[in-house]
Amino acid sequence: MPFVTHLECANCAAEYSAGEIHGLCTKCNRPLWVRYDLELIRREFPQKALFGRPPTLWRYLELLPVEDPLNIVSLTETITPILPVNRLGSEFGLQNLMIKDESRLPTGSFKARGMAMAVTMAKELGLKRLAVPTAGNAGGALAAYAARAGLESWVFMPEDTPIINQKECVLHGANVYSVNGLIDDCGKLVGEGKSEMGWFDVSTLKEPYRIEGKKTMGLELAEQFDWELPDWILYPTGGGTGLIGMWKAFGELEALGWLKGGKKPKMVSCQSDGCDPMVRAFESGARHAKRVNNACTIASGLRVPKAVGDFMILDAIRDSGGLAMSSPENEISKWMHLSNSTEGVAVCPETAVCLGVLDQLVSQVKVKPNERVLVFNTGAAQKYPESVNIELPKLDLSQPVDWASLPLV
Ligand SMILES: *Cc1c(COP(=O)(O)O)cnc(C)c1O
Ligand SMILES: [Zn+2]
Repeated sequence: MPFVTHLECANCAAEYSAGEIHGLCTKCNRPLWVRYDLELIRREFPQKALFGRPPTLWRYLELLPVEDPLNIVSLTETITPILPVNRLGSEFGLQNLMIKDESRLPTGSFKARGMAMAVTMAKELGLKRLAVPTAGNAGGALAAYAARAGLESWVFMPEDTPIINQKECVLHGANVYSVNGLIDDCGKLVGEGKSEMGWFDVSTLKEPYRIEGKKTMGLELAEQFDWELPDWILYPTGGGTGLIGMWKAFGELEALGWLKGGKKPKMVSCQSDGCDPMVRAFESGARHAKRVNNACTIASGLRVPKAVGDFMILDAIRDSGGLAMSSPENEISKWMHLSNSTEGVAVCPETAVCLGVLDQLVSQVKVKPNERVLVFNTGAAQKYPESVNIELPKLDLSQPVDWASLPLV
């Protein structure tokens, strides 16, 4: 949109012009923010202009980077519902617990928001070949949106990436490679191959637009809450674009004067204790996180041992008065079962980690019973068959069923 003024390094504030291809800041190798003329938007984009626009993330076009709407690459990124979950809430002693269910998006995770935007911008800027390291869902989303745009995608994933993610990438026509390392090792390969292979690196935060897509989570939930934000937002954190993007959205809405009471939520960055670099950095007061060696969690989206935007995550949670906290890896299955069985909401292992953190926040009386708490379900449980172990009792058709032996509750 004409409202973009420039791009700005999140670390050294170096400025770059919009409408050109950019990766990380060329001076300090850190991520770039997209900056808008919020004064102009404030004058020309009244809140009521939203009325009647289609219920997709593109309704916030004035706050998005795309110049020509004809370049939009979309699979219909629907507004995701905010579900009140009172039965689950009462398990924690909470009266106002809600889940924003991002599993409804194309490819079954919130990664669709970022990739819809990144691929749209890639198309607008004339890029043809896109590459990404992925813990799973980002690869699936890139492959799908690249196919939708008629662009080429290259995906590099750790060999323990959920099998569904491996297959969805192949089905969407990506060039997929399995790597015997972690996501940052895959990231190195994408960087190394750049000049020879001629691809553009769409890694988390290494291009400026995925975060603008993730930002729509914040814009959307603000509108859903009638511009009066909840007290707490719990978000599972890997590379951090979701949390950083939402915090950027709240800042922009504040500048537009759209937030009632100007109140913003406390942001909680949730990780598994199997891979919790942000929690360690938060607790030690550092602005950068150390790489976690031997990162190991079934919540594949959180298996990020080192994030290039670590300081942006930490700034956001500290500015908000929130925190970073981990939950035990061996409780993920318990929390998945609780949400899935008490409410029918199919939360992914990453979100199960948020429930484990919520449990601790309530027992430490950090979260009060009547506060409004929003937990993000970032992906569909159905994408993680590996995380659920079951053995079904068998019925043998050659024998009459002994109904008295079945348990009644
Ligand atoms: C990628 C991913 C995350 C982590 O998101 P970031 O914004 O990279 O921190 C959480 N949950 C799921 C399901 C994911 O795919
Ligand atoms: Zn810089």
